[in-house]
Amino acid sequence: MKLSYFSILLFASSSQQCSHTEILTKTFAKLPTTAKGPSIGSAGYAVQPLGAGTYMVTDGLYQAMFLVSSKGVIVVDVPPTIGKNMLYAVGNVTDQPITHLIYSHAHADHIGAASLVINKHTQIVAHKDTKELLKQTPDPLRPLPTKTFSQSYDLKVGNQTLNLLYEGENHVRGNIYIYAKASKTLMLVDVIFPGWAPFSGLAVSSNIPGWIDAHDRILEYDFQYYIGGHLGRIGDRSDVVIQRDYVKDLFNNCKNAIDLTATADPVIGANAILGPIGGLNPGNSWAQFKGYLDITAEYCSNKTLDKWNGKLGGADVFTFENAYKMVEHLRIDWNVLGPFRKV
Ligand SMILES: [Zn+2]
Repeated sequence: MKLSYFSILLFASSSQQCSHTEILTKTFAKLPTTAKGPSIGSAGYAVQPLGAGTYMVTDGLYQAMFLVSSKGVIVVDVPPTIGKNMLYAVGNVTDQPITHLIYSHAHADHIGAASLVINKHTQIVAHKDTKELLKQTPDPLRPLPTKTFSQSYDLKVGNQTLNLLYEGENHVRGNIYIYAKASKTLMLVDVIFPGWAPFSGLAVSSNIPGWIDAHDRILEYDFQYYIGGHLGRIGDRSDVVIQRDYVKDLFNNCKNAIDLTATADPVIGANAILGPIGGLNPGNSWAQFKGYLDITAEYCSNKTLDKWNGKLGGADVFTFENAYKMVEHLRIDWNVLGPFRKV
């Protein structure tokens, strides 16, 4: 949520309370029609056939995929919000058993209901780093993969082939590209959000350079459908280009904001350098830092929203949080430190 200069001053000692009240009473911009996904019926989920035995499943908040072959079904991810509806989604299309389960990555919000769709014969496939991460937080709902790979793996089941590729760390270690060539479907979770702004904090990604780079790598694939793992609508190439533009704008606006904080710019420079919170809390370095980061991110967020508000769903909901993460990315990964550098 955005903090204005004045709200920082007014709520310097209780900014969290201010923010929580703000979110409960705030009305956000109307969603653009391009943000709308398939209608979700009373069953609580929708299944979208993409051709060649490929299907996307969504509950409007999360997405999963499955492929029907002549010798069993391959399921990719089982988000807990979809849960056992994944079994109904598959069962309404085919009598074939689920023989393979793929984890896109280790995060529980995408694979946290895995145990619902497997039996002792199901092969679970994931990148080796996903297995390592899952070992750190043992969870019976996310059983460890039974087959791992490091670079690429072609999963062949009956008449279906699914290409699994690792292009290096992006959203998190082990997050893989899942490519169904027959239907020209590419699934890469937590990178592109078709029709929407990225989720808070650049999709809670742990490697921002890799996450940004993935926007270009996605476009190297020959795909017609893109499954991003979130919300309802399936994406296409233009959604990737649009989000890449949003991220570029965010990057440039945040870099400009940091540069301005090192100047006497009356809008941002003086405010950030003085640090309004720090001004009320002399000697409290964290308070000064928080004031600096909030002001810088707010400036970047407002500039970015001038162009994107109302064009991407939820841009006004998460652009401040995305700007905050981008400012930290610029500072830590790109050495863009503004006034925090002695020249
Ligand atoms: Zn994730």
